[in-house]
Amino acid sequence: MSFPYEAPVSQSLFDRASAVTPGGVNSPVRAFRAVGGTPRFMVSGTGPYLTDADGREYVDLVCSWGPMILGHSHPEVIAAVQEAVARGTSFGTPGAGEVELAEEIVARIEPVEQVRLVSSGTEATMSAIRLARGFTGRPKVIKFAGCYHGHVDALLAAAGSGVATFGLPDTPGVTGAQAGDTIVLPYNDLEAVRAAFAAHPGEIACVITEASPGNMGVVPPLPGFNQGLKDLCSADGALYISDEVMTGFRVSKAGWYGIDGVRPDLMTFGKVMGGGFPAAAFGGRADVMVHLAPAGPVYQAGTLSGNPIATAAGVAQLRLLDDAAYEKVDAVSAEVRGLVTAALAKEGVAHRVQAAGNMFTVFFTDAEVTDYEGAKAQEAFRFTAFFHSMLSQGVYLPPSAFESWFVSTAHDTAAVERIAAALPAAARAAAGATA
Ligand code: PLP
Repeated sequence: MSFPYEAPVSQSLFDRASAVTPGGVNSPVRAFRAVGGTPRFMVSGTGPYLTDADGREYVDLVCSWGPMILGHSHPEVIAAVQEAVARGTSFGTPGAGEVELAEEIVARIEPVEQVRLVSSGTEATMSAIRLARGFTGRPKVIKFAGCYHGHVDALLAAAGSGVATFGLPDTPGVTGAQAGDTIVLPYNDLEAVRAAFAAHPGEIACVITEASPGNMGVVPPLPGFNQGLKDLCSADGALYISDEVMTGFRVSKAGWYGIDGVRPDLMTFGKVMGGGFPAAAFGGRADVMVHLAPAGPVYQAGTLSGNPIATAAGVAQLRLLDDAAYEKVDAVSAEVRGLVTAALAKEGVAHRVQAAGNMFTVFFTDAEVTDYEGAKAQEAFRFTAFFHSMLSQGVYLPPSAFESWFVSTAHDTAAVERIAAALPAAARAAAGATA
């Protein structure tokens, strides 16, 4: 397709980046490969807005893929960071900030009795799985097609067809040995999980699932699915790991656990808890967590884990996230969802807006999406046209039809009005799109 306007400074930065960085980006989805065109190089963010290198301003509906729940450059988070950075950037010793962040997490999320801080969601899920294997003495891991848990070798396994399919490596560089203990099952299919446990008694260390998936677009668990996973794990002696890297501290004070109340053995966190800095965590049952070094034998470590600036940002952000903040984010999310639905309906575009708390995705299909196959069945080419129309009108959406949209407390009436003004043309573009 042709792109409605140019971004010459971003394009020249992208050309330079492509010479020195594979694909020009440091995380693949940023490259706009799914939608085409020039990725925008952002230079600043304030509240609900981002400004790119060409000086154009956008209403941001990505929020750094979730973390910026208070909007960009929140004054109290910035002040906490400035205060921390003035005291030094990294000590390689324990620090008070780590204790404060851990206490904030434990206070908010009841199943988390102990927590270990790391620097990325990938590290959190990788470590949680190692701990589950070390604790149970079992090798196998169940994960679900369409759920993303970071680029952990064992979790980059392709969706198999049918029940108890052994995962095949999904990328060169992951060996059969690394993926061979991963069982990939269709999401929302408890029968498949039951069959996998029956086929591998005493061999499954854990089931890992996104608490409510956002990485195939937003596909919430069907009623009873998470509880069913928990029950099957408990009956077999496996651990139930709820990955709340995306939902944690975003969809409620206690994340998805605060919504469905299903008690995991271990949980993983990232994104919001770092206030825009690299901070993540895994935690849960104390009797499991004590198996981690130095308390126990399962090794896990990190030079920058619990970094003082990241923990200061995280603590400041979490302390600002009170009930009123979540009410605000939920209300903005509902308003934007309503506007998108109205605009697409007016143009007769088949669509389905799916939400999990304040996270949501617009799927270009009539059918309810309950798994990865359903997500892939949408008319993604309509999203491409919709995306570029919104971008050209100053609204920045995730550059893929398989991602969650995110809003923040900073998305005020003016920002929502800009989105509303852009939607009619974008809906027309989606209606007129061809595959
Ligand atoms: N788990 C989930 C549910 C995620 O959404 C992500 C990232 O998007 C990760 C894990 C990996 O986190 P990170 O990108 O910080 O490594």
